[in-house]
Amino acid sequence: MVEATVRDWIRPEVQALTAYHVAPAEGFIKLDAMENPYPLPENLIDAWLASLRELELNRYPSASANDLKQDLRDYLALDVSQQILLGNGSDELIQMILMALAKPGATVLAPEPAFVMYRICAQALGMNYVGVPLRSDDFQLDLDGMLSAIAQHDPAVIFLAYPNNPTGNLFKREDVEAIVAAANGLVVIDEAYFSFAQDSWIADLPAHSNVVVMRTLSKIGLAGLRIGMLAGPASWLQEFDKVRLPYNINVLSQASARFMLSHIRVFDEQAAKIRADREGLTTSLSEIAGLQVWPSRTNFILVRAANSQAIFKQLKDNKILIKNLHGAHPLLEQCLRVTVGTQEENRAVLDVIKAV
Ligand SMILES: *Cc1c(COP(=O)(O)O)cnc(C)c1O
Repeated sequence: MVEATVRDWIRPEVQALTAYHVAPAEGFIKLDAMENPYPLPENLIDAWLASLRELELNRYPSASANDLKQDLRDYLALDVSQQILLGNGSDELIQMILMALAKPGATVLAPEPAFVMYRICAQALGMNYVGVPLRSDDFQLDLDGMLSAIAQHDPAVIFLAYPNNPTGNLFKREDVEAIVAAANGLVVIDEAYFSFAQDSWIADLPAHSNVVVMRTLSKIGLAGLRIGMLAGPASWLQEFDKVRLPYNINVLSQASARFMLSHIRVFDEQAAKIRADREGLTTSLSEIAGLQVWPSRTNFILVRAANSQAIFKQLKDNKILIKNLHGAHPLLEQCLRVTVGTQEENRAVLDVIKAV
């Protein structure tokens, strides 16, 4: 009875979606979601808590979050010609961008496999989503495929994750340039993994009128704060700002993010450690017979094994959670994604895989 009523009234494109799945992780070594494995250092915790003491939780947050924005401008070394817009995670920025661009019949284009929120948000808003497969050997952009999809669909927006999730690689700069030049609409360059790739388009923003760059504090060790940022020309950002809910960054997140940015060296050092451990883990995985390992510019590693399902299950039985990508996309057959953890966690993963 209620099912029939719901079916009558909920938009068909929403009914067709499956909710974003988060695997239960209680008691697991958690290597499925690209989190930084290191907690805030002991000596910063008291200072951080002290910085929260004077906050007024009975008041709404600053709606503009101008102080945090200024700190982020400095952090990004943003050119004066560019603006900044904050989201409750970059997930929310993706949603805001698409809400503003969702004219009837508008197309969202992305190479595939890609970060799934591009497709989920597009489809939830009734937009046309087009995925262009990456090259199957090295997961680079199929530039001809991208250019003909641009010519055919004239997309309102193209999402390029730089580096890409779940493949872990950086696309070639000249391919990105060619896509930006061919696009009539907006190109969003998603730099969620900047700290592990150390290659950015932020400095290129003033040279382009149809590019915005998205960053997040999530992958460097602050996933719980939900702070995403979009940098780009004011003309685009002031339109996106109209669909932003007024107090989207809460009081605790604004203050905490400012505190963390004033200690950014701690996070830079953790990222450097993760980059070094990524190289060690990549080498060790490559030495295991039967594993195909792709080089990574992120804090995760993509591997393929004929027995990927047995590996995934054995890890799970040993209380280690990674991401099973088999079935997510034809190019990800028998693929698994492992977040780089602490050295102990990485060793635990290696031991289980070797045993299988
Ligand atoms: C994790 C991730 C995001 C989402 O980050 P949040 O700021 O936590 O919402 C965006 N893009 C890519 C490519 C990601 O991997």
